[in-house]
Amino acid sequence: MLAINSDSIGEASAGPSCATTLALDHPELPGLARRATSFGYHLALDTSLRNQPENTAELPRAATTLLAHLKTVGAYFSHGRRCIGLAEDTAWHEAVHEMVHLEFDARGLNPSVRSSSSSSSSSSSSSSSGQHDDSSPLRTHWLAYRARGYSALVAEELVAREHELRSLTASGAPLWRWAIRALCVADSALVVAQNDLTTTPAAQRTHAHAAEVDRVSRLRSFVTGPRPRLAYAMLPLLGLTMLASSAVRRWQGGPEVAGGDAEAPALGGNWRRRTHKERWKEQQ
Ligand SMILES: [Zn+2]
Repeated sequence: MLAINSDSIGEASAGPSCATTLALDHPELPGLARRATSFGYHLALDTSLRNQPENTAELPRAATTLLAHLKTVGAYFSHGRRCIGLAEDTAWHEAVHEMVHLEFDARGLNPSVRSSSSSSSSSSSSSSSGQHDDSSPLRTHWLAYRARGYSALVAEELVAREHELRSLTASGAPLWRWAIRALCVADSALVVAQNDLTTTPAAQRTHAHAAEVDRVSRLRSFVTGPRPRLAYAMLPLLGLTMLASSAVRRWQGGPEVAGGDAEAPALGGNWRRRTHKERWKEQQ
């Protein structure tokens, strides 16, 4: 673990600010480090997340499974270590996500999940006194999710995911740099939401809870799930196919698709547009 602080990073540089940028290269990392420090936490580079020992073939199966899992962890928040652990290739939006968990912990916004936080918290942490800040926007956001039937833990996770998505979509970077990543983050959040909501039997759901189940299901079916993603992938192919088809028709001197023709029948038939050559012959 290597400590990351605003002194070791230096001042913010004028670099790219898209949230898909590596967190370690992002110009706002010094600010994030300062904010974590102000709450009594710190940022760290956890080199163990990407370390791969050479003798993996000799390791027990459990160890190789753990190593494979660690490779998929973008970043994490550790309540016990009071830190956010970043990997070398953590993206900025993942760091933003973990910062939300840190603020929940520091301000005691989700006491039902971290009731034991007082044992290691600093004097500046409101969670050390068992209190939480009800006026905090994060707490309001969390309560809104709770009202829709989410568990305390998943409500916090969804607040973090929304901040992550916001960092992706609001950076001003071009769409192609973040759209696919945002779609993946949104869909994984909806999977988490769906799993959490459906643990409650249908008969025990409130009206708001049932409406949320429907909303999440529709969003996955029509916007973020595997089928819509396949459709998004096919759209450019469809466009290219239409362009190629139009170019081939023009090259062969065949009928044009665009533009009106007074001789075109309203419906079907064996009609086809005349070529320029045929029109010239008729005029002779
Ligand atoms: Zn999370």
